[in-house]
Amino acid sequence: NAKENGRGKFCLFSAEMNQRVFEYLWLDTNLRKALEQQQLIIHYQPKLDRNGKVRGAEALVRWQSPERGLVAPGDFISYAEESGLIVPLGRWVMLTVLAQIIAWRQQGIDLRVAVNVSARQLIDQSIYTDLKQALQESGLNQCPIDIELTESCLIENERQALMLMKQFQELGAEVHLDDFGTGYSSLSQLARVPIDAIKLDQSFVRDVNTQPVAQSLVRAIVAVAKALNLQVIAEGIETVEEEAFVMNNEVDIRQGYLYAKPMPAEQLEHWLIQHPEYQ
Ligand code: C2E
Ligand code: MG
Ligand code: MG
Ligand code: MG
Repeated sequence: NAKENGRGKFCLFSAEMNQRVFEYLWLDTNLRKALEQQQLIIHYQPKLDRNGKVRGAEALVRWQSPERGLVAPGDFISYAEESGLIVPLGRWVMLTVLAQIIAWRQQGIDLRVAVNVSARQLIDQSIYTDLKQALQESGLNQCPIDIELTESCLIENERQALMLMKQFQELGAEVHLDDFGTGYSSLSQLARVPIDAIKLDQSFVRDVNTQPVAQSLVRAIVAVAKALNLQVIAEGIETVEEEAFVMNNEVDIRQGYLYAKPMPAEQLEHWLIQHPEYQ
């Protein structure tokens, strides 16, 4: 920004920058309101095990905006991270998911749900203490929520991230390293971080169709993960060719549009009934 640029430098306000400032201000008023007025909703995308059975789901937040319709997280999560609003938003996601899991259990649906957590949400303990307290209040003796973190969480505040990851695991949550392979962490780093699974980024899955080197990369990553006793999850499976590749390469869990898109809780209940083959 202008202050940091200092004297003697100047910056040109382009139309694009102007647009970005406007967008920031719009989000600043409206996302706060969205959280207060219950305009956020969670979609759930099923995850299949090697037998092709649904063993869990991933929670993905959306915003039902009165002005803009259904807004994808890509259009507001980074703003929420910058502004700090991700902390109350993340708390809302966690508690809403827990309430949904409990409601599903009463209907005979037993699913673990993975929740995405940003680096900024790890700056204090609240994400962990909130979950712990909610679990105690709901009388669950085992945590049915897993945590998806990206490599950036480890880069931004490694000490705090490692501590929270261990605490989540002690609660019974699995910790999954999301978008694996897109960040800067090395394979050797996998050995010293407390994680239960890696989630291969969907760009790898996409490339295996066209680039033989991508196939070798996936095989190498899977081999290292297996050697370290980590589960491997593949996201973004869209075609039967991609499915065949991950199945032939010992991927444990798969997820993608080939099976189901993320959908509201009620729709997932219908989807489960309509697809007995996944049960
Ligand atoms: P992610 O955690 O890596 O989630 C995977 C994204 O890929 C989701 O996009 C999902 O809808 C999409 N996807 C799933 N299967 C397929 C497929 O077969 N093909 C394609 N092309 N895409 C597929 P979405 O829902 O737009 O979420 C984007 C990102 O926003 C997430 O990436 C995650 O980083 C973030 N996010 C979503 N919900 C939350 C949340 O509650 N908290 C935080 N902190 N971040 C969230
Ligand atoms: Mg994720
Ligand atoms: Mg991902
Ligand atoms: Mg992602």
